[in-house]
Amino acid sequence: MNPIKALKGFKDLLPGESARWESLASVLRECFHAFGFSAIQTPILERTQLFTRSIGETTDIVEKEMYTFEDWDGKPVTLRPEGTASVVRAFLEHGLAIPSFPTKLYYYGPMFRHERPQAGRLRQFHQIGAEIIGESDPRQDVELLSLLTYFFQRLEIEGLTLEINSLGCAVCRPPYRTVLESYFKEGLPELCEDCQRRFKTNPLRILDCKKEGCKAMVDQAPVSSDHLCEECETHFKAVQAGLDLLKIPYVLSPLLVRGLDYYTKTAFELTTKDLGAQNAVAAGGRYDGLAEALGGAATPAIGFAIGIERVMQLYGKSKSAAPKLKLFIAPLGEAAGELLFPVLNEVRKKKIWTEMGKPSLALKRQMKQADRLGAEFVLILGDREREEGKAILRDMRTKAQSELVLENLVDVLANRLT
Ligand code: ATP
Ligand code: MG
Repeated sequence: MNPIKALKGFKDLLPGESARWESLASVLRECFHAFGFSAIQTPILERTQLFTRSIGETTDIVEKEMYTFEDWDGKPVTLRPEGTASVVRAFLEHGLAIPSFPTKLYYYGPMFRHERPQAGRLRQFHQIGAEIIGESDPRQDVELLSLLTYFFQRLEIEGLTLEINSLGCAVCRPPYRTVLESYFKEGLPELCEDCQRRFKTNPLRILDCKKEGCKAMVDQAPVSSDHLCEECETHFKAVQAGLDLLKIPYVLSPLLVRGLDYYTKTAFELTTKDLGAQNAVAAGGRYDGLAEALGGAATPAIGFAIGIERVMQLYGKSKSAAPKLKLFIAPLGEAAGELLFPVLNEVRKKKIWTEMGKPSLALKRQMKQADRLGAEFVLILGDREREEGKAILRDMRTKAQSELVLENLVDVLANRLT
């Protein structure tokens, strides 16, 4: 019988790697709190409608990437492909609006998209995301981008580029779409099959095509930032002025469009040259129309999502925060084992990682085990020591040994080892 393996595009997170994930998450959590964000957890499974209505029927995600199936009652449900739609649903469902101040939420968890698995592209991947809901002021765009770039400073990841663009709004996007349609109409037969379809459903998405054949035409296409209404133009200028004020470097990227329909005004991506084709580590934008599309009151909002697996590829291997074994207890004989088993239990409650060897094993075998586990200290208790009411503490680095009285051993160890 063949052993059962994980599904393609689904990855196990093994112990060494998981410690690095935790260290990254704890840095990000610290930043979120300083910027006033609270954590939210939404379910992984949602009504399919939530995503078709928000992400858009003609996007890659909805057209071909969603894990959708019928629930037992025959209703379609979907494993979430992204986090924003769920967060806004929860915001509306629980009335999370705060009077005269935006609601700032962050989330962390797995997302599911049925894409072709390749380097940097998984079917279950993880995102950390942030949303500022209830404020249209461009200063929020700047604060959010400041938080995003600050994360990467804190993680000491360099060589990232912040690309920004403005996608316009319900007022200026339709006329821009018409301009784009007449531009692409000319060379339609030269576009790839996907783009010929996009031409009919959503010509903006052609700008996102990475195929060589389409690129030449895309490069010369009219850009949204030249077709903004006055309000969008003012907003975009204010975002740039704010970034300049905070000395946050960025580049204008007029062809940047996002794969989700709900974006308005500011759109951005954080890209790197160090990951090959999958060069975006984070992305996001303003989505002032989403709450309304989900049946709520009009609520301006902006957010981003960071792809954790891609960030982990850039996050220095040296940053391993794997905890070190502090103490290995080596009891020699059953009586010593019985005396030290409660000590093991209590020392752990002092937040000291401690393990214990088998009392039946010789000292040499137990020392070898302690060494393999990388223990910093070993506590040795044989018959002679026990009779004298003492145990031996050995510093594995310096090889220095000292005697500890058995009375109050837990407190003495806690003092010595923290
Ligand atoms: P891409 O152009 O790479 O497909 P996207 O526009 O689909 O990205 P978003 O939906 O904006 O991506 O998600 C934000 C981030 O999540 C991306 O920048 C990326 O880092 C990460 N991400 C998206 N899809 C995947 C995936 N299949 N595997 C791993 N990470 C992903
Ligand atoms: Mg994608």
